[in-house]
Amino acid sequence: MGTLQPCDISFEFFPPRTDAGRDKLMQVRDRLAGYDPKFFSVTFGAGGSTRNHTYDTVCDMRQSGINTAPHLSCVSSDKGELRELLLRYRELGIDRLVALRGDMPSGTMAAGELRYASELIEFIREETGDHFNLAVAAYPECHPQAASLERDLEFFAAKVRAGADIAITQYFFDADAYFYFVERVQRLGIAVPVIPGIMPITNYTKLARFSETCGASIPRWVSKQLEAYGDDNDSIRAFGEEVVTRLCQRLVEGGVPGLHFYTLNQAEASLNVLNNLSLR
Ligand code: FAD
Repeated sequence: MGTLQPCDISFEFFPPRTDAGRDKLMQVRDRLAGYDPKFFSVTFGAGGSTRNHTYDTVCDMRQSGINTAPHLSCVSSDKGELRELLLRYRELGIDRLVALRGDMPSGTMAAGELRYASELIEFIREETGDHFNLAVAAYPECHPQAASLERDLEFFAAKVRAGADIAITQYFFDADAYFYFVERVQRLGIAVPVIPGIMPITNYTKLARFSETCGASIPRWVSKQLEAYGDDNDSIRAFGEEVVTRLCQRLVEGGVPGLHFYTLNQAEASLNVLNNLSLR
């Protein structure tokens, strides 16, 4: 593979629940910080026990010197709680957020004061003006609860018009879904960078379960091959690395503004893909 044009790289983490998980994450952080990413991001567990840990993990990640973006969701917080969190983040020196509606762990919808991410974006802009660079979620294969691709795209456009600066996509394995989404976004006159979310493949069972929930499709040829490997984790990882490297190669050749890796708090799989790409 020849050298590809460089693009921005970012890495996403979830807040660990245990001290051992935190220690491990600090090692992962330091390895990935060596790649000089544009930013780290830390997820927000709406209504769940991880929720309060996002702030602490953000503090930990920032010690690496890498710009860190907390995720913030409105599904189970009232405006007062959100306002307080925005102030705390501002005081900490945070200038970037990923703003989401969020999902309750149970899958049920809680009665937040703000119902959709577009309302959260409006609220953040009202409260803090242009202080934060705001990222929103995008779904090249359609959000699972959306009535249609068309409706989902309209609501995506509403989030951007409410003040989002960039979008990060749900992961996908079909580059055409991404390119078609970006084309439709551009036809609407929306010019924000749409950064593809990249999910390294390391564990088929977990990937299949999660993909079912979030509406990401796994191509049949990929799932058949992963299934055939059974418990052979080395082969799953090697094949997964090849599939994801090829996907990223197509995306970078197609001019994507960046690659956002869902690390699942592991360094190896993302770094292997990046090293294969030789972006630098
Ligand atoms: P929205 O943009 O509000 O859309 C949600 C659904 O409502 C869509 O089906 C949309 O079409 C529809 N909709 C939007 N506006 C309207 C309207 N006005 N009227 C009717 N329907 C409407 N989840 C977490 O809990 N924590 C995280 O940290 C987290 N991080 C994520 C990071 C990324 C990059 C991505 C892609 C997803 C992340 N998620 C996270 C998952 C996300 O919260 C879920 O996908 C959630 O179901 C939708 O969030 P959203 O911000 O896209 O919602």
